[in-house]
Amino acid sequence: MSHEGIRFISAEEVLRDSAQAAAHQGESLSADAVTPLKVRVKKTEGTGVEIGWRDGHQSSWDFRWLRDACPCATCSTERETTGRVPGEPKPKPRDPLALYQAPPRPDEVTPVGRYALSFKWNDGHQSGIYSWTYLRSVCQCSLCNPPRS
Ligand SMILES: [Zn+2]
Ligand SMILES: [Zn+2]
Repeated sequence: MSHEGIRFISAEEVLRDSAQAAAHQGESLSADAVTPLKVRVKKTEGTGVEIGWRDGHQSSWDFRWLRDACPCATCSTERETTGRVPGEPKPKPRDPLALYQAPPRPDEVTPVGRYALSFKWNDGHQSGIYSWTYLRSVCQCSLCNPPRS
């Protein structure tokens, strides 16, 4: 387990950050926090995924973010070795011919049991299982993910 990314915080940030820290440790989330009431996959619009949770929280991610946050072993290892956090895009390739890439979007989104979604991305990648716990722990809302100053 890596402890990189820990930063020192000021007193007034403690409350907010402890909630955030809890959100980053899936195990400490309440059942309501990881139970989706409403899941919208905007596949046709090509925008992203929205989830309304049973504890009243709302989360949304765009497809590019989700592709860069793929939780499969290959992508996680690759992110660890390159020091990226989930959702952080890969550095742009230098080869000008490689510059154009179709924006990530899923060709298929499939529920996995009652606990996760699996995406078949338009680049052919499909090994990521995005569990509700994972998605909630990477919620991108301003409460869970305050803008860094
Ligand atoms: Zn992956
Ligand atoms: Zn949130």
